Amino acid sequence: MFNDNDTLTTKKAHRGIDQIRADFPILQTTVYGHPLVYLDNAATTQKPNVVLKAMDDYYKIYNSNIHRGVHYLSQKATDAFEVARRRVQEYINAKHEHEIIFTKGTTEAINLVASSFGKRYVKPGDTIMISELEHHSNIIPWQLMCEDRGASLKVIPINEKGELKMEAFDALLDETVKLVAVSFVSNTLGTVNPVKEIIEKAHARNIPVMLDAAQAIQHVGIDVQFLDVDFLAFSGHKMYGPTGVGVLYGKESLLNEMPPYQGGGEMIKTVSFEKSTYNVLPFKFEAGTPNVAEVIGLEVAINYINSIGLDFIREREQQLITYALGQLQEIDELRFIGEAAERAASISFLVGDTHPFDVGELLDKQGIAVRTGHHCTEPLMNIFKIPGTVRASFAFYNTEEEIDKLVKGVKKAAVLLG
Ligand code: PMP
Repeated sequence: MFNDNDTLTTKKAHRGIDQIRADFPILQTTVYGHPLVYLDNAATTQKPNVVLKAMDDYYKIYNSNIHRGVHYLSQKATDAFEVARRRVQEYINAKHEHEIIFTKGTTEAINLVASSFGKRYVKPGDTIMISELEHHSNIIPWQLMCEDRGASLKVIPINEKGELKMEAFDALLDETVKLVAVSFVSNTLGTVNPVKEIIEKAHARNIPVMLDAAQAIQHVGIDVQFLDVDFLAFSGHKMYGPTGVGVLYGKESLLNEMPPYQGGGEMIKTVSFEKSTYNVLPFKFEAGTPNVAEVIGLEVAINYINSIGLDFIREREQQLITYALGQLQEIDELRFIGEAAERAASISFLVGDTHPFDVGELLDKQGIAVRTGHHCTEPLMNIFKIPGTVRASFAFYNTEEEIDKLVKGVKKAAVLLG
């Protein structure tokens, strides 16, 4: 559906769930005497042994700075770093490897585009279009840029199920819009947005589109050429890789036109006190020593995902979501927040009149990790007129047995909290 390249998504996991879980040492942890039930995967995913080992190996065996050394270790580290760039390129099917910019996460990738694209293309009176579903990371950078450039935001509204109102999108799309920046998948509601349609409609008016793929990259195959998306941002830590690394994909033609985001080493060609010139892509946007170990860890995380298979991951997570929705809806006091027809691995809910924090705390005491609060989507919470939600978010290593524990825990919380 999101990928026209079947070969990317046809692999299957040939190992049992116990073997898969054994790849993740943290899943053997106990919390307050209970086996950990980790259902906070939208906040961050757990890391398999292979990722931990790859980062450890870098520090133990070939720790060195990259791109500027002729010695053996530096070349080995540089090679590993650039292999990672190619792996990311393959994973999202980018046309060129220099369209892959390493950042420290989705947030930095969005800030980079807001700042640099803003300076190059946005004038007073222009607008940037986002949606009511956005994470703060896909609101604030645009707000900051708009303040700076004398521009303003347009916001695509949602319906009561938590889906974008596409007729409103059509009506908002006019010549003032310089960029559309929306999430691929909502971190709070799990809604999968019709991104292909959004891109096609925006492109019909020559408006570029940026996708916040922080909650999509680990669940669905993304082919940037098939989508024809202009910018895409995601984080390593949400796809079984380390924190401190993320990716900005950008079309070469746009990135080449945009000014540097930060200044420093790596991003320059020549430096003098009168005038400096800048390096070519991708280095123009990678100032300073990058997170080498984390980039190497991300490469191994992608290999790990490929070995499990995105097809398998998508199918397994859909089974878990369907099972969880079925079980949770048996609880009388429970109310789902967001019921989009198409959704990825997150479920938000409230239990009667109880505060989400109280439910979260009671679940925690049973070893069940869920997220409670506004999930960095305060405007969305205001639209639903709620203080926050309880969010359970799944990964392929979760089990039906863990969902049963969640359901039992929520029932207990409903009784205890009245
Ligand atoms: N966008 C979405 C949809 C997210 O879920 C998150 C993380 N919760 C972010 C952006 C920000 O990601 P990071 O903190 O890794 O930069």
